[in-house]
Amino acid sequence: PELAPPRVIRELPDELISQIAAGEVVERPASVVRELVDNALDAGAKNVLVKLMAGGVRAIVVEDDGCGIPVTQLPLALKRHATSKIASLGELESVATMGFRGEALAAIASVSEMSVASRTADAAHAHRLDARSGELSAAARSRGTSVEVRELFFATPARRKFLKTDATELAHCVEAVRRHALARPDVGFAIWHEGKLVDQWRAASVEQRISDVLGEDFVHDSRAFEHSAGPLGVIRPPGQANVLAAPRGGQGNLGRPGISLTGRAGLPEASRSRADQQYVWVNGRYVRDKLISHAIRSAYEDVLHGQRQPSYVLFIEIAPELVDVNVHPTKIEVRFRDGRAIHQAVRRAFIDALAQSRSAEVAGGEA
Ligand code: ADP
Ligand code: MG
Repeated sequence: PELAPPRVIRELPDELISQIAAGEVVERPASVVRELVDNALDAGAKNVLVKLMAGGVRAIVVEDDGCGIPVTQLPLALKRHATSKIASLGELESVATMGFRGEALAAIASVSEMSVASRTADAAHAHRLDARSGELSAAARSRGTSVEVRELFFATPARRKFLKTDATELAHCVEAVRRHALARPDVGFAIWHEGKLVDQWRAASVEQRISDVLGEDFVHDSRAFEHSAGPLGVIRPPGQANVLAAPRGGQGNLGRPGISLTGRAGLPEASRSRADQQYVWVNGRYVRDKLISHAIRSAYEDVLHGQRQPSYVLFIEIAPELVDVNVHPTKIEVRFRDGRAIHQAVRRAFIDALAQSRSAEVAGGEA
């Protein structure tokens, strides 16, 4: 059989490279919301406002009161692989910010009509940069950043076809903000859709925020736990301090060794038919992790039967060197240096929380 002649190898144009990369980062409006809120939190925002039109497909606007972007840096912010968050491999290994890949804004810009308006504390006024035209203009806003994303996937109809109804896309957007809101009770969040307020959470304590976001029933039907373990046997190069991630939103564990687990374990009686109330964060980042869900599942082994699903929130704080967050473009997956130790600690935290709730019941019954 005759071989086909080799085809010509070409370097792809920049725009196409970004659009291909965007496929990994931007799946739907909720992915945009997640990336933009990540950026707002990385900028030290105390208030984050999310405004949506048509489930986020028509428009997504995220406004924050963070540090802002200096006007001279605005064009760089939209460039692929441009970031203010890391500068070296060493910094990647101990990264404490949500972002570090320098991809999100470039990716979003390549599949939408995007503009960024920003103002730093010392600027006389804000500036807006239009991603497509590159046009820079004066704008009005207080310190912070507003990113506006319109007509998502307008140029990539194949992607657009995969979008669900506006109501479904809206629900995913709201869920993305809930995940942030649970991890950062110290920050105020508001979500608007078509000019109507959908949800709003004012800065609060961890407990209060959990109740505000997941409902009083969840709090009533769950038990709080606090568990720490470690050190995890890391051998550090001499001279390197044994410091953990800076405290984030009240769940910090500065000065404590190894790993700290806090959260709430849902009582078996309040189990659900769907796994829709299972939240895990690692150093403030919402993750899905088979190892962790397995550990939790095993803690419920004797008390939950069949397909019943436990509800829980679990905040894991661990030295950033002990977890690799650069596994997946959306960073929803992480890899632990010592998976076994994590598994054990998580399982123990949940077993203890559930055992305590049972002994409390017995004590309550005797009284
Ligand atoms: P990354 O977050 O991985 O650095 P992004 O593409 O999301 O990449 O953002 C690029 C850069 O733009 C960030 O590193 C940051 O310097 C700046 N930036 C983006 N959003 C904001 C914001 N809301 N406030 C301040 N700076 C921002
Ligand atoms: Mg980012």
